[in-house]
Amino acid sequence: FHVPKAVNEPVKSYKPGSPEKDSVLAAYKAMWDSKIEVPLYIGSDEIKTGNTKNITAPHDHKHVVGTYHLAEKKHIDQAIENALASKDAWANLPWEQRAAIFLKAAELIAGPYRARINAATMIGQSKNIFQAEIDAACELIDFLRFNVEFMTQIYGDQPKSTSDMWNRVEYRPLEGFVYAITPFNFTAIAANLPASAAMMGNVVVWKPSDSQVFSAKVIIDVFKEAGVPDGVINVVFGDAAMISNTIFEHADFAGIHFTGSTHVFQDIWKTIGNNILKYKTYPRIVGETGGKDFIVAHPSANVKQVATGIARGAFEFQGQKCSAASRAYIPQSLWPAVKEQLITDVKSMKMGSPEDFGNFITAVIHEGSFDKLASYIDQAKNDADAEIIVGGNYDKSVGYFIEPTVIVTTNPKYKTMETELFGPVMTIFVYEDAKWAETLKLVDETSPYALTGAVFSQDRYAIAEATEALKNAAGNFYINDKPTGAVVGMQPFGGARASGTNDKAGSAMNLLRWASARTIKETF
Ligand code: GLU
Repeated sequence: FHVPKAVNEPVKSYKPGSPEKDSVLAAYKAMWDSKIEVPLYIGSDEIKTGNTKNITAPHDHKHVVGTYHLAEKKHIDQAIENALASKDAWANLPWEQRAAIFLKAAELIAGPYRARINAATMIGQSKNIFQAEIDAACELIDFLRFNVEFMTQIYGDQPKSTSDMWNRVEYRPLEGFVYAITPFNFTAIAANLPASAAMMGNVVVWKPSDSQVFSAKVIIDVFKEAGVPDGVINVVFGDAAMISNTIFEHADFAGIHFTGSTHVFQDIWKTIGNNILKYKTYPRIVGETGGKDFIVAHPSANVKQVATGIARGAFEFQGQKCSAASRAYIPQSLWPAVKEQLITDVKSMKMGSPEDFGNFITAVIHEGSFDKLASYIDQAKNDADAEIIVGGNYDKSVGYFIEPTVIVTTNPKYKTMETELFGPVMTIFVYEDAKWAETLKLVDETSPYALTGAVFSQDRYAIAEATEALKNAAGNFYINDKPTGAVVGMQPFGGARASGTNDKAGSAMNLLRWASARTIKETF
């Protein structure tokens, strides 16, 4: 097959005076007071149910930027019906036609929609421009472009034949519809979960996070303009339990593409298990669910690299990445220098609205997250086995602002070494240099998750030891780099244990989950 070669979208600089900075700020200002109203998108209908919620900016939570409409059960039934009604036409389109629609979507984001999708992500999810650009622009574009390349690999992968026997494998979409539940923290993931299933010929019911509606609206506009037919991706908002339960009751439910919390995913498994006799087929269950991602430094590590790895890994996008570093193990011999550098780095991080491009840290996503983080910080202030060495202040009067905070603990099983907080709080345990092997064991055993992790060392032997000892502790393992920022086409992303089904976003492994192969043997 010949398709356009997928290339990673270059990250723009947003330097003062650059055209991209001017255009994203203009879009930000226009959208700030736009008061948009986001309906449900079901088939060709845009449904305003009249039951609405406000969309607010986490960094200025009293400011309403728009509203969105909430579905009732009947709308979920309609979304499923519309998806199923659109299925045959979509599945029967030549795959190149489906691919072309999504390549067009990628180019719309790379060009005319770039400022809007970045601004929407800055306003609705409080990403600074650099975090918005790598997510809502580059990663989203990359997912769409590379998925097309993966489609060609999948469809082109055919078994052996002989002159009188032709064997072929047909990669059909799943029999039924796919349900996508997407998170607030990556606009790219929100788009990719429904898109990747749709690209493989499936029809989808998509429920975006309540905290990502603003940028979801831009994704919907892009998909429409690119030519995704009505009914292929139906979008519903509202009560997650009601929506999920309605979907999981349906005989044609064929798969779920999920990113979100571990306990929600576990409930989903249980519900699907309980309903198994209702379905025509075993539903595909694909999920990415969180992490307690580590950094472990060997005594041979480069101090500056370690400090930067912690600062960027823990605090970019306020630590609200499943991949964010949130526990670190530093040898005693390096600790004074790492500590000094880390405190300097963290103190240099300015905090405030994303509209000011000098702000590195902005607000966390909502009050629930703010309150949870503040409570862990307060506990650390009082616990004898914990000490806050930088940060520790918080304020929700205007936005949900939590200072980047570093806790040092003498207890390697301290609660914030084990529990996922999903915010800008990093906990560090300082170990005795001689206890490298024990420390690796500790890293492996301390958390139930296994998403990402990083080792820092200049000693090849120590790198090999860590790579071996931690082989099940992370689905994405980084050597001398922070454990965040996987790039599509370069580092397929996902983890196992409590972190998910490890069906690697940004790879053919993921797309294959949205196909059900039929083997055809024909003799002559
Ligand atoms: N892929 C992102 C990264 O490598 C993280 C995705 C997530 O937070 O779910 O940082």
